[in-house]
Amino acid sequence: MPTDPHHGHYDHPENAAEYSGLTVNSGVAQPPCVNPYLKRPKRRVYTPGELVEGILKGDVMMLSRAVTLVESVAPEHQAQAREVIEKCLPYSGNSRRIGITGVPGAGKSTSIDVFGFHALKHGGKLAVLAIDPSSERTKGSILGDKTRMEKLSQHPDAFIRPSPSAGSLGGVARKTRETIVLCEAAGFNNIFVETVGVGQSETAVHSMCDFFMLIQIAGAGDELQGIKRGIMEMADGIVINKADGDNIDRANLAKAQYKSALQLLPSPPSGWKPEVHCYSGYYELGIDEVWDMIDRYFAFIEKNGYFERQRREQARYWMYETIDSELRRRFYDDPERARAIAEAERLVLSNRLSPFTAAYNLLGENR
Ligand code: GDP
Repeated sequence: MPTDPHHGHYDHPENAAEYSGLTVNSGVAQPPCVNPYLKRPKRRVYTPGELVEGILKGDVMMLSRAVTLVESVAPEHQAQAREVIEKCLPYSGNSRRIGITGVPGAGKSTSIDVFGFHALKHGGKLAVLAIDPSSERTKGSILGDKTRMEKLSQHPDAFIRPSPSAGSLGGVARKTRETIVLCEAAGFNNIFVETVGVGQSETAVHSMCDFFMLIQIAGAGDELQGIKRGIMEMADGIVINKADGDNIDRANLAKAQYKSALQLLPSPPSGWKPEVHCYSGYYELGIDEVWDMIDRYFAFIEKNGYFERQRREQARYWMYETIDSELRRRFYDDPERARAIAEAERLVLSNRLSPFTAAYNLLGENR
């Protein structure tokens, strides 16, 4: 190998004769860390009791650590998370839980930033959580991400947490539901739960929020076709974003269309008449009007008892939902059973066993 007295070995292939004119020097060996004497402090592990104490004091670092436990799939973390949640439960419930949905690009993050900032002007604290089963942390729109909410991310009274990433929609939603309890115990009195309006996740958000807001944008006059009737039925408020510039007329037209479409739907169990408003998140127009609707909604459902009724219904829903998913998990996670399932599937596919008998056999019942 050719050597150079000043630069050491020319050990790069690019330094071969055919690349004359190009010289690549060997890199300088890096020490394993800048200061080898500096020991990285070990992350302290807190007991559930310490976490609860921190949360009740409103310590956001402790809240974050507890949420990380909630999101963990490790069984010992889940046990600790359950303990934290149980201890926080008596201090929870005291918030307005607001679900926000809309297709990507509708302006959810812009709007949450603005509405959130608006809410914080009246005092209190705001947590922004998200349900986004499609996104992994590394790709896609990471709902609830701080970088998408400039003003809120710098606000001392805002806590922004991206969607838990692991698992099924039910699993992701349950973790968000549990995080709500922790946030409330930490004194967050406004909770936004964001989701992308493209599928089942709206139902999950609806099952944990008091108010459900659908963000729409005015398009070419056919916007009603794009949303499913079921989602419109869930909405307590439909808000049309980007009502600014030469889009104002289209937004107003969309508003009229939504209003008449809502009249055809059965009246919601809350007794509230869902409202439609235009606004611009970007130019901050019409924000007061939307926020005023939310205030009036809460006053209305607190007065007629629906607030409490809906929360009880939701607690029931989550109990059965958790039983369902836990039963499935316990059934499918057993490796021995996985083998039996594969065998049964083979017999069913070759028509030697009926699917029903196979299923009952696997479930441990011989019918
Ligand atoms: P998300 O995907 O629903 O979270 O939507 P974003 O908040 O990221 O907004 C999508 C795009 O629409 C961005 O380029 C925003 O700047 C823009 N946008 C959001 N709100 C408004 C608005 O009120 N008016 C206008 N003209 N553009 C907006």
